[in-house]
Amino acid sequence: MHILRTNKFEYFCTSIRLMKNTINNVDTLFLQKTITLAEENVLSGKGGPFAAIITMNDVIIATGTNIVTTINDPTAHAEISAIREACRVLDDYKLEGCTLYSSCEPCPMCLGAIYWARLKRLVFAAGKHQAKNAGFDDAFIYKEIKLSNSRRHLETIQIKIHEDKSPFELWARSTIKQKY
Ligand SMILES: [Zn+2]
Repeated sequence: MHILRTNKFEYFCTSIRLMKNTINNVDTLFLQKTITLAEENVLSGKGGPFAAIITMNDVIIATGTNIVTTINDPTAHAEISAIREACRVLDDYKLEGCTLYSSCEPCPMCLGAIYWARLKRLVFAAGKHQAKNAGFDDAFIYKEIKLSNSRRHLETIQIKIHEDKSPFELWARSTIKQKY
């Protein structure tokens, strides 16, 4: 009844507020679930204190936890694990329209994977500074990315080879390629 008595602008603002609250509640719910998964991951001894969930239309289609040390795979971060499972579930390499919830701000590798997977939204709980305080410091990688090749700690060498354009030329001419 209160809404009916207000003018159009106030009605608009109230609608937006209600919409935002709904979105926030759903997001908070999924984030709480990722945090529970991250806790369970630590308690089970399977890996680091990280978990991720991928949803489509507010339905969980995949979960992932950090299992780097369990399977000896440095890329087995929670977000990557969840992306791999979601792609398997959807039988697609694109996760358009999906949301990734992470218990912590993604590292540069996972952020890159999130873009490659074309996820629509990213929602995370803990910030990278909290991860740093717990001994998971990816600030170094973020700093390195900004530097030119010659200034990075990683010895990076480019050798120009005449044939280096050949794979691209073959790709351009290929009739069996699947564009992505
Ligand atoms: Zn990561």
